[in-house]
Amino acid sequence: MNSSNDFDTIEEARARLGKRLVILAHHYMSDAVARHADYTGDSLELSRRIPDLDAEYIIFCGVFFMAETAAILAKPGQKVFIPEMNSRCVMSDMAPDWLVKATLDHLAEGGLSVTPLTYVNSSAAVKALVGARGGSVCTSANAKTMLTWALEQGPHTLFLPDVRLGLNAADWIALPKEQRHILDVRDHGKAVLLDKAKKAQLLLWPGQCVIHSRFKPETIRKARQESPGCLVVVHPECHPNTVALADACGSTSLIIKYVAEAPEGSVIYIGTEYNLVNRLAQKYQGVKMVRALKHSTCSNMEKVTEPNLARLITTLDSAPTVQVDEALKDPARLALTRMLQVCAK
Ligand code: SF4
Repeated sequence: MNSSNDFDTIEEARARLGKRLVILAHHYMSDAVARHADYTGDSLELSRRIPDLDAEYIIFCGVFFMAETAAILAKPGQKVFIPEMNSRCVMSDMAPDWLVKATLDHLAEGGLSVTPLTYVNSSAAVKALVGARGGSVCTSANAKTMLTWALEQGPHTLFLPDVRLGLNAADWIALPKEQRHILDVRDHGKAVLLDKAKKAQLLLWPGQCVIHSRFKPETIRKARQESPGCLVVVHPECHPNTVALADACGSTSLIIKYVAEAPEGSVIYIGTEYNLVNRLAQKYQGVKMVRALKHSTCSNMEKVTEPNLARLITTLDSAPTVQVDEALKDPARLALTRMLQVCAK
């Protein structure tokens, strides 16, 4: 099937299904996929939409944990699909549920009372674990609010899986450096140094996003040399040393707003996944110069393509749905609902 056939196939199916189908797409989707979406957004915006959707079919164009989140928040009877089941988030996979559980158990046995706070980039099993232990979820858009909330719940917070977002959020709330400790989770969590953990309010899981690791402080210095006066905006999955050199830092939605509000004629370098940067560069062509700090794409996001969306949309009655174990749904929903409630205030 060529791309114009795929386009027509998808649009014909959307017209035929009408309100029975909703397509959601993360900002990191390619233009060929994003153009079919009813809603595009960051993880927080898309999560907020799910409880209000009445469609029978929900197609989530993103990586697997996002579709799992949609399946947790969906109403009974709604069917959630993802065009490519194998589009995993590498960072999410750095915190498997068995290792998170073993580490939390080790901390509890050591006498630490820990409130876990997981970035939305985590499996349903991890969200369920966190929900069952009084914790919650955050996104890059609300990490500051949710970290403040978690620290108020007890003496220790475990932030997972992204050490960089955790450290950046700690900087935003001016949490002293001596109150932060990055865990060594080898040996089934037994390598954690309990004496050091006991002295820190914030315990951090050692995960990271390889796509955002590519934006280094020297990348920003080079951009500023090439374009004196340029603006730099980066995602908070970047290293804190990179964030410190940027003019702004925030979620994909903040980045979109930052570019929209930048003065005409600005040169703006962006440190996030390339598909979003490219879309903004095209949108503001001739008005503002939008450039990638570095060409960095998420190979898992790229597994969702217009051809596999076209295939899925024509086989909705037989295609596999995104399944979340019933036993996980309630505690995972609890963790997500706590986030939506805290952020609704
Ligand atoms: S860009 Fe990074 S955090 Fe986002 S889905 Fe890809 S690997 Fe995961």
